[in-house]
Amino acid sequence: MALKRYHILIVIIILNSSLIMGQKESKPVSTLKVTTLSTMLVNFNGIGEWGYSALVEVDGKKILFDTGKYPETVLRNAEELGIDLSDVEDVFLSHNHRDHTGGLLTLRNELKKTNPNALIRVHVGKGIFRERLNYENNMPNVKAALEADGVKIIVYENQFELFSGVWITGPIKRIHDEKNWYEGGKIQMGPDSIEDTIPEDQSLVIETEDGFVLVSGCGHAGIVNTLEHIRLNIYDKRVYTVIGGFHLVNATDDNLKWTSSKLQDFGVSNIMGAHCTGINSLYTLRNLLDLSRSNAIVGSVGDSFDLEKGITAGPIAK
Ligand SMILES: [Zn+2]
Ligand SMILES: [Zn+2]
Repeated sequence: MALKRYHILIVIIILNSSLIMGQKESKPVSTLKVTTLSTMLVNFNGIGEWGYSALVEVDGKKILFDTGKYPETVLRNAEELGIDLSDVEDVFLSHNHRDHTGGLLTLRNELKKTNPNALIRVHVGKGIFRERLNYENNMPNVKAALEADGVKIIVYENQFELFSGVWITGPIKRIHDEKNWYEGGKIQMGPDSIEDTIPEDQSLVIETEDGFVLVSGCGHAGIVNTLEHIRLNIYDKRVYTVIGGFHLVNATDDNLKWTSSKLQDFGVSNIMGAHCTGINSLYTLRNLLDLSRSNAIVGSVGDSFDLEKGITAGPIAK
């Protein structure tokens, strides 16, 4: 009898721990390519802007990660790079800021001419539609226009497995005081207002045989908070590669030292730091992490990270 109870107890503990951790069994993807479509630096073809967007191609699926700032940028850059976006059905938005969401309506309007299901699903974090006091959050208008056009908007409160081995983090707990946003923003909450920490900020995570790959938009939640959130709730694995904007552009030397020591603990071996990562901050991190010009680069339009080839830098960032 005692033995039976002991077995039942073990089963309950296993079930509980997997539910609490929210982790599923390991399912590494076979192919992955991430191509930058919007950031400040550009090479021979395309337009640079203060913004971010990337195309994520994983095991035959495509996800457009953020949509750049100006309405035409991503559309024109994709054309210049010979990339067809009309078969992309899923859009991931990291947060509400226009430098990540400004191209969405133009892209949907253009691409649906070729494929009515182009950009038909938009994945966002809870809080993205909240009213901001210091600027007009355009996302409620974007939502209304998209829904009138038959586009489905899916709001995440927690982590979610979008495709096998591909996860949306959902909003991230701010364990460390990374404060990677411009201070002074306010969110209207009923009669009161609270500090705008960009609570909806979310990232995309892809599991590979070598560890996981993170794609981040502006990193307002903080890169360390984001990576710890993933390790706690999605994959307790080494961090293989980090890609995108990490909002370290104003980071002090002490902040960068702290960040690099954490990244070292996570085992980060490739960085494509685009957008608000900051050029000086990227090079400081590269030195502190003892990485080289082949595995820590400033992102530029048209560069890519591939599981086979690693980072292919643009000529300007080599
Ligand atoms: Zn932002
Ligand atoms: Zn940004």
